This record gives sequence, structure tokens and C-alpha cells, in this order.
Amino acid sequence: MPTSPLPRLNLRNLMLAMAIFSVVITLCNSFYATYEVQRTLLINNTLEANRVYAAKLAEVTESFIQSTRQQLAYSAGQLVTSMEDEAALMAEARRLHHQSDSFNSVVVVNADGVIVATSPDTLQVKGLRLSSASARQSLEAKKPLITDPFVSPSGNYIVSLSHPVFAANGDYLGYIAGTIYLQQNNILSRLLGRHYYQDGSYLYVVDRHRTLIYHPEPSRIGERISGNPAIDEVLQGREYAHKVVNSRGIDMLAGFAPVSSTGWGIVAQRPKAATLAGINEHLLRVILKSIPVGLLTLAGIWLSALFISRPLWQLATSARVMNRQSAQADIAGVPSWYFEAAQLKRAIVRGIGLLNDRINKLHTDSHTDALTGLFNRRGMQQVLDNHEQEQIPFSVIALDIDHFKRVNDNFGHDIGDQVIQTLAKVMQAQARRGDILCRSGGEEFMIFLPGTSAEHAREMAERLRRRVAVTAMAEVGHITVSLGVAHWPDTGATIGQVLKLADQALYQAKGNGRNLVVLARPDQGAAH
Ligand code: GH3
Ligand code: MG
Ligand code: MG
Repeated sequence: MPTSPLPRLNLRNLMLAMAIFSVVITLCNSFYATYEVQRTLLINNTLEANRVYAAKLAEVTESFIQSTRQQLAYSAGQLVTSMEDEAALMAEARRLHHQSDSFNSVVVVNADGVIVATSPDTLQVKGLRLSSASARQSLEAKKPLITDPFVSPSGNYIVSLSHPVFAANGDYLGYIAGTIYLQQNNILSRLLGRHYYQDGSYLYVVDRHRTLIYHPEPSRIGERISGNPAIDEVLQGREYAHKVVNSRGIDMLAGFAPVSSTGWGIVAQRPKAATLAGINEHLLRVILKSIPVGLLTLAGIWLSALFISRPLWQLATSARVMNRQSAQADIAGVPSWYFEAAQLKRAIVRGIGLLNDRINKLHTDSHTDALTGLFNRRGMQQVLDNHEQEQIPFSVIALDIDHFKRVNDNFGHDIGDQVIQTLAKVMQAQARRGDILCRSGGEEFMIFLPGTSAEHAREMAERLRRRVAVTAMAEVGHITVSLGVAHWPDTGATIGQVLKLADQALYQAKGNGRNLVVLARPDQGAAH
């Protein structure tokens, strides 16, 4: 029977592949989820930290502004009575300048906008009249003021913190101002600059017009920031944290906080890449830590796959060689501990059982005569073959019903069959254990007598002949039989020859008048 080639895949490998696939997908998914969660957490934490940090620095700046205001207010009070006294003005300017490191310089301006005192006195602007609008902001305001950045008469880019001087009668006498040189070492860079990070983090300060008044790169001071909505928010007075892209195109995580008294905004920011720098290493550590458990899981899955697939595998391999003698026992011995395997095993064992029964029945049928239940010629042949191999001496009797045609003619075929059946019963009744009876043709029989001598066989044949002769057959009355007897190895070298001799002896009995037994002679002839 042509068979299609067996698939190379088996259940165990399929289960294994499926399990490995699921484990890998699950692990990748959890690594990805861990990465995403960590990433979001780091970004949010950095944004929040920068917001808090900017707020803290805004507070520091605010308190600096407050303290300078107090210093200026005090100085303004000192100047009320000495606006005309140049030496006193210079002394007060020097005192205020050197009292703290808040200001890069101190100037006193009279009501006409003329600079009347400076510290340091090396400024060389004394006697100058302020002309530009930005320089005259304080003069015109006539109140405490923090100016926008402008270029001072001495050529410095500054913001100026001023306080007006009013006479006792309310006349405006001028103002005293402390300046911060934005592009030089100043109080802001001292307050803020030391917070400069190593990893690309930095902070900057914008005034209310978005002009940079502090930046770690001095060249950028004075630059106007545009296109940054977060700056708008902070200049509205709101604290804020946001992802931004800086002027160099680098993604930054920025915190914004306002300095409310000046309208400035402080921005603290850290590159996103620096924030996330550790995450890959972190993920690698997570992966390395998961490896042992992952390997144990895979080993567990492999063993489980082996354990689960084993009964089916054993059933399948046993079923491949089902024609083997031991197949049924092999399959029955497969330990099947779960439903499917147990059901399959039962079905296969039952199938093989049924098959064997069927084969046995077919074997019996093909070796048995249906009418009498005796061996047929094929059955007889097999018995003889076995005996020939074992080399046991035996005798054989050939038997034929006398004038059986007449029985058929007179009583019909069915009655003839009944006569054959009755004769078979008589033969069975006469036979001993170990004798083998065979219906070799229509109304011809062979009796095979292992270990029986020729003489004993002849006596048996004689007894049988007499028994048949006295047995009443329904409707027919009595019949007779003729018998020929031969012995192996006395009368023939092969079983075939011995059977032929028994037949010849039978014909001789017929020829001699029927209802007779003739024994074949050892010299290959036949004798009465
Ligand atoms: P002889 O004494 O010479 O043996 O005479 P005979 O009539 O028996 O002659 P033969 O043995 O040649 O004939 C056998 C007859 O037996 C022929 C056939 O009609 C009949 N016969 C053969 N087989 C069966 C059978 O199975 N059933 C019946 N009813 N008759 C059979
Ligand atoms: Mg015959
Ligand atoms: Mg006959």
C-alpha cells in the first residue's frame, strides 16, 4: 500500500516551539513595557525636578531683589539731605557699592538726569546727562524700578535697580541706582551659575520682554527668545514644566518659574538624552536578571512538553508497527495519564483486538469445512506440514462413502448433506485425542493419526467401518464406507506419497467390493 511520507514535525517540538514563542513574546512585551514606564517616569520626574528647581531659584532671586531694594531705599534716605554735597554722594555710592556684592556699580543721578556720583569712580561718566529713553527709565518713573536691559553711558549692557530720592517737601531730587553688568561676572551669575550641571543641564533667565538677561553663554545675553510658548506661560506668572527643543535643536526637559517682582522668568533645563542615558543600562540589567528564571522556565516547559507528548508519541510509534506480534501488549503498556491519550490507547488496543479476532476467525474459516466442522484440505495440509517438521511417525486413513451418488439420486442433495454430517459425527466419536479429521472432498475424508502404527490404524479403520455400517442414517437407512490405510515412514518417504498410497488402498477397497479396509504395504504397493 503506498504511504505518504510522514511529517517531520512532532507534537513535542510543536508544543516547544509554541511555548518558546509565547515566552519570548511575553518577555519582549514586558521589557518594552518596563522601558516605556521607566522612560515616562524619568521624563516626568526630571520635568518636575526642573520645575521645582526653577521655582527655588526664582525664590532666591526674589529675596535678592527684596534685599537690594531695602539697601537702595536706605541709601536714598541717606541722600535726601546731601544731594548737593558731592563728597557725601560719592561716599554713599561707594559705601553701597562695597557694602555687598550685589551691584557691579552704583550711580546717583539728580533730577535733571545728570550723573552726580559713581562707584567705582573710574567710570568716567560723572557729569554726563542721561539721554537715551532706556537710560532715563528710572528718572521718569520716580519710583523704585528695575529697568529693562540697556547699554549704559559707560558702554556696559546692564539692568539697573533704582530708588527715587524725594525731599521732605516731596520734591523729586533724583535717584540712586545699583547696576548689574549682564555680560560680566555679576550677582545673577553668582546666584545661578554655580548650579550649572555637568551633563548639559543649564538654566537661563529672561526678562519680561523675553530678552535673555542671564545665560551660561554670555554671548547670548541680550538675545530675544521667540517661539517658545512655555516662556509666554512663565511670563504670565505661571510655573510650568515642558519638553522643549533648544536653540541647537536638542530636546530638553525644562522647568519654568517666574520672579514676580521683576517679571522675569527662570528656566532650568536638562537634555532629554542625559535623563534617559541610564535607561538602556537599566533595561540590560533587567534582562540579565530575568535570564536565570527565563532559562528555568524554558527547561520546565521543555520537560512538560516531553511529559505531555510522551504517551501520544509512544502510541504513535507503537501504532507504526501494529503488525508486530507484541503491538497490542506494547500499546497496552503505554502509561496514558490524561483523557486523550487514554482514549486513544483504549481505541487502538480494542482495534487491534478486533483485528486479531477477525484474522483468527478468517484463519479458522479458511481451514475448516463449513458442513462438518472438520478441517478442510488446507487445514489438513497445515497440520501435515507441522508434523513433517516434527518428524513424528503417523498413520493416515482415506475414507469414501460407497455409492453415494445413489443417496443423492434417491433422497436428494440435502439428505446427502445430512448423511455426510452424520458420518462426520460418527468419525469424531470414534477418534481419539490427537487424531485429526479432515473432509478432503465431497464425500471423502482423511483421518490423520499421529504416533499410530499401521496395524493400529487398520484396526481403527475397521472399527469405524463397522460402526458406520450399523449407524442408522435418517431416511436413508444404512450406508457403508471404504477405507485405505497407509503409514509414514513405513510406506512412503514423503507425506504426499503416503496420502497417495492411502488413496490407492481406498480404490483397491472399492475394487474389492466396497465396505472394506485395505492397508497399503510397506513395499509401496497396497494389500488387503
Ligand atoms: P463409489 O462407491 O464408487 O464411491 O460410488 P459413488 O456414487 O460414491 O461415486 P463417487 O464417489 O464418484 O461420487 C460422489 C458423489 O457424491 C458425486 C456427488 O454427486 C456426490 N457428492 C459430492 N459431494 C457432495 C456433497 O457435498 N453433498 C452431496 N449431497 N453430495 C455430494
Ligand atoms: Mg468419492
Ligand atoms: Mg463414493
